[in-house]
Amino acid sequence: MMRVDIATLFPDMCQRVLDESILGRAARKGLIETHCHQIRDYTLNKQKQTDDYPYGGGCGMVMYAQPIQDCCREIIRQVQAQGRPRPHIVFMTAAGSPYSEETAKRLARCDSLLLVCGHYEGIDERVIEAWADEEISIGDYVLTGGELASLVVADSVLRLQPGVLAEAKGYQEESYWDGLIEYPQYTRPEVWEGRAVPPVLLSGNHAEIARWRAGQSLERTRLRRPDLYEKYCEKQRKNR
Ligand code: SAM
Repeated sequence: MMRVDIATLFPDMCQRVLDESILGRAARKGLIETHCHQIRDYTLNKQKQTDDYPYGGGCGMVMYAQPIQDCCREIIRQVQAQGRPRPHIVFMTAAGSPYSEETAKRLARCDSLLLVCGHYEGIDERVIEAWADEEISIGDYVLTGGELASLVVADSVLRLQPGVLAEAKGYQEESYWDGLIEYPQYTRPEVWEGRAVPPVLLSGNHAEIARWRAGQSLERTRLRRPDLYEKYCEKQRKNR
């Protein structure tokens, strides 16, 4: 059963999200385990300050190494006390490798993950060098902190764990699973404000529906994500 730990200055915010909806239910059923930890608890100064001025000047403050390192050490200790291997450690950084469903599938095979969130202007580089197995960015934009990024990674990885979604089909048919974006989805009523559901979906002919969906998926990817479409075609050519 996979375990995800998040080291952050905002553990309550992260835990509240993880305890909701599908992931919250999965945790209550014992299918996954999530823990959020307060980095500030590991400071050694009275003010419980976690940041300091950047060497070389510049605006903003930088999170210093010691509380992050001590927090990581304690989390590793707790994980190993459960008889698990050392967690795979990911630092959330704007300069990290771009995140994708491929990465989610790879991380989903880990026994446990430790996601470390920066804040302010970021984290002292030396603690990243010392502790990160990898750095991940969730996109080409800058967030105020790594919390939302860590939740994106935790959510996309934990939903792939056995039993979390009702059926494996739930994620296998979704966007990006096979490198394509998903076909459009419809629910009741059959006609909404003059817009009818595509008739094939009401036909009951499953082979016909599957063909239509595959076609829609391919065409939408070609139009909306030519980069993914090109990659998909390349893969198909290689497999031939
Ligand atoms: N000074 C940093 C830079 O220019 O790369 C940005 C620091 S950002 C304001 C504060 C924290 O938010 C980072 O340490 C990181 O943990 C998180 N963060 C911001 N953007 C992110 C992104 N696209 N993906 C992952 N984490 C991000």
